[in-house]
Amino acid sequence: MRAAPPCMFQRSAHNTMKREMRDRPNRRQGLFRELEADLKTSRPEVTDIVACPLCLAEYGRASIEQLSREHIVPSRLGGRSETLTCYKCNNTQGSRFDSHLIRAMKAMDAVEGEEPIATTLGSTKGKIVAELLLGKGTPEQPNRISIIGKAGNLQAAEDLQRSLADGFTLNLHMSFQLIPERYFRAAFRAAFLSVFKAEGYRYALSVGAGQVRTMLNTDMPVLEKVVMEAFPERDPLTDLLVMPITFNDVGDCYVVLLRLQTKRTRYITVLLPGKAGVDWASLEALYEHAPRLRLETTPYGWESKLYIHLGYDPLFRVRQGMRDHFRPRLSPGSATH
Ligand SMILES: [Zn+2]
Repeated sequence: MRAAPPCMFQRSAHNTMKREMRDRPNRRQGLFRELEADLKTSRPEVTDIVACPLCLAEYGRASIEQLSREHIVPSRLGGRSETLTCYKCNNTQGSRFDSHLIRAMKAMDAVEGEEPIATTLGSTKGKIVAELLLGKGTPEQPNRISIIGKAGNLQAAEDLQRSLADGFTLNLHMSFQLIPERYFRAAFRAAFLSVFKAEGYRYALSVGAGQVRTMLNTDMPVLEKVVMEAFPERDPLTDLLVMPITFNDVGDCYVVLLRLQTKRTRYITVLLPGKAGVDWASLEALYEHAPRLRLETTPYGWESKLYIHLGYDPLFRVRQGMRDHFRPRLSPGSATH
């Protein structure tokens, strides 16, 4: 057997790997230098040290290997901004929660008819596994629901087609594989890292940041009502925006706008305590006004104001969308909700 000649693919893969190994530590070192200089302004006595914003564990330049570059908004949702967190925090919280932020946006895509949903249809001849695409009709207009691709069980599919008639009941099981608690944690965590990116350790070492960390690092349930869907009047052209804001009765807070891109571009906003800390209950109380609330703030680095209309959380729209699609036909005059 002749030895195979060196393969082009291997060589180019090797070069790519070499390039990545060269670039990665450089970008990590760049972030290290930025954070190190910033920490020095808050704590002049320390040198060559950074602290992980999520657990405040300190790392010297010699232990830079224990720090990871982390996308603040997952790159699969178009995130570009990065910061440093320790591997421990990145591994225990990062990707585990982020996948649910991605799934929440995919659920929005499904409800808005952009992407099919994996569905199991129940029939007398057995289960059919298929991809279902919801139509884009309005709640008032009849929606078309299409089965995309080949249904798994042909006999059951034919049987189902024959039995379809008025009054026929079809059992659908759709799964978004979404754990809401993890989705809220991911949003909350991304917002916290965004404020850290904008404000550095002045924020990370503050009382308000401590309140957020306590929630992220314990089993305390994350506050769902500080996460809302947002509709900025202008596209901010960046994956994250941090805006200071003062609410009457609540005090100084941060509004973080996260841009999440799948088939569509959507925004969520997360309200976080300002440096002095807040009473969570009064921050959460703002949610009740969400559908009518319009925030007026000036983002860091901007000269003009940005207006943002708020809505309830995106998962609220997913639930509402599913209800609208599958609402049983009601006789005229009967209540609709
Ligand atoms: Zn950490």
